[in-house]
Amino acid sequence: MPGRLSGRVAIVTGSSSGIGQSIAIRLATEGANIVVDYRSHPEGADDTRKQIEAGGSKAITLHADVSKLEDTRKLVEQAWQHLGGCDILVNNAGIEKDADFWDVTEEDYDEVLNVNLKGVFFLTQAFVRRLREAKRPGRIVNISSVREDMAFPHFSTYCSSKGAMRMLARNLAVELGPLGITINNIAPGAIMTPMNKSLLDDKPRLDSLLKNIPLARMGKPEEVAALTAFLASDEASYITGSTYIIDGGLTVNYHEQ
Ligand code: NAP
Repeated sequence: MPGRLSGRVAIVTGSSSGIGQSIAIRLATEGANIVVDYRSHPEGADDTRKQIEAGGSKAITLHADVSKLEDTRKLVEQAWQHLGGCDILVNNAGIEKDADFWDVTEEDYDEVLNVNLKGVFFLTQAFVRRLREAKRPGRIVNISSVREDMAFPHFSTYCSSKGAMRMLARNLAVELGPLGITINNIAPGAIMTPMNKSLLDDKPRLDSLLKNIPLARMGKPEEVAALTAFLASDEASYITGSTYIIDGGLTVNYHEQ
């Protein structure tokens, strides 16, 4: 739907790769100008920017580590300075660490929670403060995970962060509603991105996962991007405080033996 986001500006965190890259490109296709954020892959961010510009929208790339408060403020300020404002925030950047619960170190805990939760919390705060001053409405879309709700043994830090995102979105829906700002989560199942490289390389593990997915395949980043574009648009004007599961049926697939 070209033009659905025309005149809007969006920050997409972690848009140098995977789901974030697809989201940035999709929002731009629908008319938005984009702040492309990255942490360690400038070449990925440049690739995203080039694809956006080829489609006729504007993009700036910015190195910002969302776990650092200073960087979250920089993301919002640069959007206003270079693109004239910021209407949409997509909190996509996220990491995971595999460890048995009894082996999780303080360092691992801080790393995961600081990106997946603290980053979302304070970037959202910086985004809202600016909109509130300017008396402008806004849209927040968080890329959480089916792990908001569904256990994932050996990933207790990841699950803790995604579960907290669920409650954060519900709380902020109530607090930000009067400001005309909506917030919703997207909870993907297994999506084909670099985050799942080890899974994609492990055929027996992959086959066993696919048996649990009624649509019998992994999702594509573009499918998550399509849902994000809808939630960021005026068509989703009465939706806030919800989580949209996009998992090929994985979470509802329970059989009696
Ligand atoms: P990905 O390909 O590994 O991409 C992660 C992105 O996050 C990269 O662009 C990375 O930037 C960025 N990032 C990491 N730490 C950052 C930080 N501190 N500050 C700024 N950016 C940072 O992973 P993905 O699969 O697309 O995942 C995107 C989101 O979807 C994550 O929140 C993840 O939890 C969620 N998700 C993914 C799946 C799945 O199956 N793939 C399922 C459910 C939920 P650099 O590469 O530049 O460092």
